[in-house]
Amino acid sequence: MQYLHGRSVAGGVAIGKPVCLRGGTAELRRLPVADDAVDAEIARFEQGVRDTLGELAQTRATVEIRLSDELAGVFDAHALILQDPLFVDRIAEVIQHSKVNAEWAVQQVSDELQARFGQIETEYLKERGQDLRDVTRYLLNALSGTQAPDVAPTSGELVVLSDELTPSEILRLTRQGVCGFVVERGGDSSHTVILARALGVPLLIGVENATDVGDTAEVVAIDAQSGVLILEPTADQIESLLERSCEQETSWLEEVERGGGEATTACGAPIELLANVELYDELEDALRLGADGVGLYRSEFMSIERDGVVPSEEDQKARYVQFLEVLGERPFVVRTFDLSVGDLEQASCSEVTIEASGEENPSLGLRGIRLGLARPEFLRSQLRALARSKLEVGATANLQVMAPMVSNLEEIHTLRAMIREVWADLQAAGSHLGEVPDVKLGAMVETPAAVLVCEQLAAELDFLSVGTNDLVQYTLAVDRSNESVAQTYQPNHPAVLKLLERVGRVAVSGECRVTVCGEMAADPASLPLLIGAGFRSFSVTPRLMPGVRKVLARLDSEQCGRLLKDATTRATAREVRALVKEKLDLLVS
Ligand code: PEP
Ligand code: MG
Repeated sequence: MQYLHGRSVAGGVAIGKPVCLRGGTAELRRLPVADDAVDAEIARFEQGVRDTLGELAQTRATVEIRLSDELAGVFDAHALILQDPLFVDRIAEVIQHSKVNAEWAVQQVSDELQARFGQIETEYLKERGQDLRDVTRYLLNALSGTQAPDVAPTSGELVVLSDELTPSEILRLTRQGVCGFVVERGGDSSHTVILARALGVPLLIGVENATDVGDTAEVVAIDAQSGVLILEPTADQIESLLERSCEQETSWLEEVERGGGEATTACGAPIELLANVELYDELEDALRLGADGVGLYRSEFMSIERDGVVPSEEDQKARYVQFLEVLGERPFVVRTFDLSVGDLEQASCSEVTIEASGEENPSLGLRGIRLGLARPEFLRSQLRALARSKLEVGATANLQVMAPMVSNLEEIHTLRAMIREVWADLQAAGSHLGEVPDVKLGAMVETPAAVLVCEQLAAELDFLSVGTNDLVQYTLAVDRSNESVAQTYQPNHPAVLKLLERVGRVAVSGECRVTVCGEMAADPASLPLLIGAGFRSFSVTPRLMPGVRKVLARLDSEQCGRLLKDATTRATAREVRALVKEKLDLLVS
């Protein structure tokens, strides 16, 4: 038995057989191959390709039966790459000429192609960087004999240990029955984390060398409550973890049964509690838990769900209609694609040509609304899909459109003009659309610049939504997905609180609706400060809604107001944390 510590970012218990997935080159070694062994090395590689293709065909068939045709299609794209001479012949060539091991050659060629996506001729390779990453992983697993998790019903008890994981990998593996994840690298508020929470699977991050030691264990257990990975847990430990997991599941089911009820503070202030949703599957739980609507639909997950393929206007419209029909008059806030240009280069979008361009600093580059405005065809097709969904569902549809990563008002002006054009085009084509204001328009407040002009934004928009995940990143100049600066990512930093205080004043003024939709809204140590700042609308992951309701029910707004004032005079996040902890008892009225 051995313990490895990490940070728990998505709760629960998972016990299973460890499966190690390594995507990076860090542990790949370049091994020389003797002249007379080169042919055998190429044959080993070719066998690896055949094994991977066989496995893909099997996976495809199972996914088609158990999930959907659409998801099964992902595996066709993977198989095509494995049959492309540009990929496989090149790998054999590298083995032949450089006399190196197959694993090294696979990684070299994969890196080469990733770097040259913009220039190579083969269209589907150019468009499918994510698929290429996946295929590289499969091949490396096949060559090293590591079992990739499959989706057979008997393999439900698998825990994946990986160097890092992308959102699509989390989604894919969960759908294959993986019950928990442990990763070595990653930030606490990455999309991978957000998706794991949404799916309700335990995830531990920052577990050093997890993939090395995981290889040696037969069984591992994730105790996400204490942030521990246990290698070879004892029978007693397994029993007590299972007991706790049963209790958690029972209390979760009870919460679902009970539904939500009104969210209020202890002093009776009504709170709007909305749901952050990435997948359509989450909507049912969100409503059963009493969500007042969807406060943030991260629409870019439609492409993540399809392994990097951006859906067509038609497919998008169908998805929006699905949501609107279920939501009735409740708000449905769709954030336009929050992608970076790098994501787009890796994605495929049948209707829009995507130009290649390398960016050294994607978080500060063409991202969110900037990308939409720089590639108007891309955003226009999303706006058309949104307008058409509203048209199809009719007056009851409470569709609201939100721009991500806004840093100045001109972006809003251009977006509004684009919405008018889309409306005019549809009207000219014979649609009986109402006035443009039929759809509410809002902006994410997630850059310090947006905070500092929030009064002007409020004057022009119907609503604002504070994205604390990015606001913390941009205020503290700390990459939210970078493990090595995770300690510096401090949501309750006084600098962040001062910015929140300013947006809170707009919320109190009632100039427009202001929601907080970042992870701080579900953090018991931050909620008192947000209530203190004057926020009364929150949008959180559905599974966290019962907990948020409980915390809110203990808070007194006046006391929270005093707490925030005090907190903003402190010098560090650590001092704020200590203050919140010390005052928490006083906050219970
Ligand atoms: C945020 O930045 O706080 C947010 C809600 O958006 P995302 O996490 O998708 O960037
Ligand atoms: Mg954001």
